Amino acid sequence: MTKDKSAASVWSACIDIIRDNVSAQSFKTWFEPIKPVDLKDSVLTIQVPSQFFYEWLEEHYVSLLRKTIKRELGNDARLEYRIVVEHNGTNPSTVDYPNFNSGNASNPETSFPLTLQGNNIKNPFVIPGLKKINIDPQLNSNWNFDNFVEGDCNRLARSAGYAVSQKPGGTAFNPLVIYGVVGLGKTHLAQAVGNEVKQLYPNKTVLYVSSEKFTNQFFDAVKNNSVNDFVHFYQLIDVLIVDDIQFFSNKEKTQDIFFHIFNHLHQNGKQLVLTTDRSPRDLEGIEERLLSRFKWGLSADLQVPDFETRIGILEKKMYADGIELPREVVEFVAYNINTNVRELEAALIALLAQASLNKKDVDVELAKKIIKNFVKTMSREVSIDYIQKTVCEYFNVPVDTLKEKTRKRMVVQARQLSMFLAKNYTKNSLKVIGKHFGGRDHSTVIHSCQAVQNLIDTDQDFRESVNDIQKKIQMSIS
Ligand code: ADP
Ligand code: MG
Repeated sequence: MTKDKSAASVWSACIDIIRDNVSAQSFKTWFEPIKPVDLKDSVLTIQVPSQFFYEWLEEHYVSLLRKTIKRELGNDARLEYRIVVEHNGTNPSTVDYPNFNSGNASNPETSFPLTLQGNNIKNPFVIPGLKKINIDPQLNSNWNFDNFVEGDCNRLARSAGYAVSQKPGGTAFNPLVIYGVVGLGKTHLAQAVGNEVKQLYPNKTVLYVSSEKFTNQFFDAVKNNSVNDFVHFYQLIDVLIVDDIQFFSNKEKTQDIFFHIFNHLHQNGKQLVLTTDRSPRDLEGIEERLLSRFKWGLSADLQVPDFETRIGILEKKMYADGIELPREVVEFVAYNINTNVRELEAALIALLAQASLNKKDVDVELAKKIIKNFVKTMSREVSIDYIQKTVCEYFNVPVDTLKEKTRKRMVVQARQLSMFLAKNYTKNSLKVIGKHFGGRDHSTVIHSCQAVQNLIDTDQDFRESVNDIQKKIQMSIS
């Protein structure tokens, strides 16, 4: 039945099904890079970019892969992998110093005019359709939706932001409050809304302002007796983006004036986009009447991106800057930096800078060194040997038997549990773990981990033993 089929056509049919069954980001990360390379009888061979990649597929997607391939090729279908081993990192000495952070330089110092051609504002004969004034939106075009990687961590905020930009003032998301701790993309997303609106509606007046700048302008206006101008200016805006409003805390006068502006804009169907470092619920020192206004719209949070999204973000940055790095390095960085996106970018920059200084290829060794210096909190890792020793002491079996073929119950249990703990407490690949147990293959490791998990779920004595051993291991790393 497979006669007329090619690897490409079979894979393309499979991929259509897979796309419907995994998240967009998972699809991009784990399926787009796969290349179908061969089809013989009922064996489809696909090429994957790394060992880690292959293990990830086997661990997370094997049943989906199996199902779809059987659907295409019948019950005898089998899947084989080809792993790319060649190194394709570019020579880092030719890599330009990246400028990921250029986005941060949204010329915070340039201030926009506060004193307008006041006559224009009051002129009742302003011709409709003609722009009254030209307000610089204070946007940085580097921050847009295209380069804001979507993941579970930001899906709601991103899609609400996108909806708002398509119909500013015309959705239920008014105000749109984006919140989350530092470095998770609030400014990026809020700016993306502004940029998108500008693109779609060039005649709309968009303005991005930090709360700090807003506050300073207001103080100046008070000093210069021009509070009216200040308020009028802000009332002209169609899409007002105010960043980091936690800064308004305990500044009553500023809150008061902002309340006025907010009401005016909202009543006139203008869009407000606000960001804060915590949920509006937890904002302190902000007046109740403002907080209750925030609840009129939507509050959407940003979370720390998961592993796949972190890979997506790194890849996007690398692509934008024309940099290539070995897949395993990208995985290593994404795996170890799990605090926020700003740190992730900084690690990438540090890595490339070191590499070009040392005129050295970026490999996992270099990444390890740099990232260790970089993240002080990187947890210490226990070794597989230590885990084996601890487990064997507990069950009173000789360590060497873990590497042998013995099927004695106690040994099997110690062996499987050691594998399970090695997987959970170290960053070794399944293949490496298998090697430490007398060269067993990765599928044995997966099987062992599942067996242990089943026992933990069903056998209380065993669960307690595991707890005791885990305590010992944890003590050695803390
Ligand atoms: P915040 O304002 O929350 O402190 P930023 O918006 O300044 O965070 O984001 C920090 C950095 O991380 C920026 O360079 C931004 O472009 C990047 N970033 C954050 N989230 C994403 C994402 N989902 N996709 C791509 N880049 C992101
Ligand atoms: Mg910010």
